[in-house]
Amino acid sequence: MTAINNISIKNKQSVNLVITLFVWLLYLFFLPYIYASFHIFSILFMLFPGVYLLCLLAQFMHECWHEYLPGIDNKLFYLILSWVIFLEPQIFDIVHPYHHSQVNTYKDIEFHPLGEIKNKPLRIIYNFLEICFGNIFVILVTSFKISRHPTLKHVYSYKKFIVSILMWIIIWGGIGYTSHLILGVSTSQIVISYFLTCWMGSFMVHHCELIEHGNLIVEGDLKERNLQTRNLKPCGIIERFFLFITHNHCLEHSLHHSMSNLYTRPFPQAYVLPEKTVYISFGEYLVILKDMLTGKCVVVNPK
Ligand SMILES: [Zn+2]
Ligand SMILES: [Zn+2]
Repeated sequence: MTAINNISIKNKQSVNLVITLFVWLLYLFFLPYIYASFHIFSILFMLFPGVYLLCLLAQFMHECWHEYLPGIDNKLFYLILSWVIFLEPQIFDIVHPYHHSQVNTYKDIEFHPLGEIKNKPLRIIYNFLEICFGNIFVILVTSFKISRHPTLKHVYSYKKFIVSILMWIIIWGGIGYTSHLILGVSTSQIVISYFLTCWMGSFMVHHCELIEHGNLIVEGDLKERNLQTRNLKPCGIIERFFLFITHNHCLEHSLHHSMSNLYTRPFPQAYVLPEKTVYISFGEYLVILKDMLTGKCVVVNPK
């Protein structure tokens, strides 16, 4: 891919972000009505476009945090994107630097908020909840952990938390209420359909992250640990569907760690990955999940 192509794709990402935001708000407006009309079958609508949009907004949020997007105020959009996907911006802001500096160790508090859980039954229960509820569970544990952390608790601001609650009420409550007024949906239809979308999105995003870093503890320097980050091989229908719905989140994730100063996601195959890059299939990922659910954790030593 040429540099000019890269620049034009990069510039388009800011436009895509604004369009995705607008479509997501429309989705939230119509979702309770679709849920009221089609009941269980509305799950398909929640998967597409719901989870598809939610995963893209989560990626844009992460990309604004890194200030990758040209021509827009990344800090402002980081806040807006966090609120529209029901996240509290300061949590990710506090823990994401650890994900980069401490990746694939228990010190990565974004990924292992409780560090190493030595008690095996407790580790299995934690892994089970993480696998079932995804980021909803991990973020709740992280928030609790930050509030008790000797240094990070001083960084956490309750004022910012109150601002986030107000923004959630304005955005989610405002759209839900408009949907109630115009489309006549009930409060329970709004709450259930919104919760199901959030859970499905949280599940999908977290399984991406588990493909990349799940049950992976590496002994080594940052370069060695970055290199052990896993990527999903687009070798079958499930893998391709997974990459489609998550916008290639785990296609070249090790690049995001080894070259985090560069905006790599929208340009698959634009950069050459190192020879020893780790790729796994969905089948291999299922073995990782099995290990997590049986409390097994192998420490990788690349030397
Ligand atoms: Zn990052
Ligand atoms: Zn990562």
